[in-house]
Amino acid sequence: MIYLDNAATTRTAPEVVEAMLPFFSENYGNASSIYSLGSVSKKAVNQARRILADYLGAKPEEIYFTAGGTEADNWALKAAAEAYANKGKHIITTRIEHHAVLHTCEYLEKQGYEVTYVGVDENGIVKLQELEEAIRPDTILISVMYANNEIGTLQPIREVGQIAHERGILFHTDAVQAFGQLPINVDELHIDLLSASAHKVNGPKGVGCLYIRSGLKLRSFIHGGAQERSRRAGTENVPGIVGFGRAIERAVDIMPEKIRKETMLRDYLIEQIYEKIPYCRLNGDRTRRLPGNVNFSFQFIEGESLLILLDMKGVCGSSGSACTSGALDPSHVLLAIGLSHELAHGSLRLTLSEENTKEEMDTVVTAIKEIVERLRAMSPLYEDFMKKQRLAYTGK
Ligand SMILES: *Cc1c(COP(=O)(O)O)cnc(C)c1O
Repeated sequence: MIYLDNAATTRTAPEVVEAMLPFFSENYGNASSIYSLGSVSKKAVNQARRILADYLGAKPEEIYFTAGGTEADNWALKAAAEAYANKGKHIITTRIEHHAVLHTCEYLEKQGYEVTYVGVDENGIVKLQELEEAIRPDTILISVMYANNEIGTLQPIREVGQIAHERGILFHTDAVQAFGQLPINVDELHIDLLSASAHKVNGPKGVGCLYIRSGLKLRSFIHGGAQERSRRAGTENVPGIVGFGRAIERAVDIMPEKIRKETMLRDYLIEQIYEKIPYCRLNGDRTRRLPGNVNFSFQFIEGESLLILLDMKGVCGSSGSACTSGALDPSHVLLAIGLSHELAHGSLRLTLSEENTKEEMDTVVTAIKEIVERLRAMSPLYEDFMKKQRLAYTGK
């Protein structure tokens, strides 16, 4: 099997599993308990908190563990909206956010908030001027993702943060795709709130965190016990949190080498697809993108057919096509960068890890080439297109 869907989830690293295991068996204590079995858990949770804080250039008490990236996004947006409602009810975000942000914004709109969805250019980079022009006296929050999960584009986070802070507006970033993949410093980037998730960076599923800049008075997300300084109640997911910490420790250790290797494989894959397969286009910025992200649209092809046939050859990928995601419309991200419905339906996302090899890239390109040729041979649109081409060139 060749796994190229690391933007959907990653393999839990063996050293992460190993770090988690004792917290299911011998160290099963509740982190809130007084006896020493409990304090072992509490120590482990706080050690993980420190690892995450150090990575972000933040303080441990600014890290709140959640049940994942989706929960962190929900908390950040809903609590910020509520906390600043007396100042205003206007929020700015982008048209390419993850559904965890977009659907939360739609919910807030139903609650009487107004949301401006700023557009992106043809490469998927947020239009800064449009963002600045959208700011009003009643704007309370700007939320712009760090890196896009479909097309991998990196957003000008520092600039957005600066704009927000100059105007006294709170800045949230969904950093799930960049967390542990790239260096992030919350002070340098003027970030007030940041969402992250463990399972996108070789940690376990169902655990994430929200960074909340100290001094921000945001309401609790889950009411109950005193866990997470009473802001996110519920007995701590100790094994998950320990795994998250270990995953980030590992990620920081291997970061330069991982970035170098994935960038090399990514560029090789892009180059090979362009060379071997006609009538395709790369979606997203050529260089301002995540090291491991490749996203192509193939003309005259249905993304889901391509995925199913790739799966039969042992290759795991993903598509912005409608059926695969269970939605009716193709990817809102691909439409936002100006793709037609046809091209959005014909998209293929391949997201790499440091474990992939150049040989695997060659195998995948050969597989895509065969499948694309097979599918195009059955496509009336393609036949039509080729007829027109022939006519234009030969007159017959
Ligand atoms: C995966 C993802 C999320 C959701 O994180 P979960 O931990 O799966 O809930 C949010 N935002 C982005 C950009 C993601 O890629």
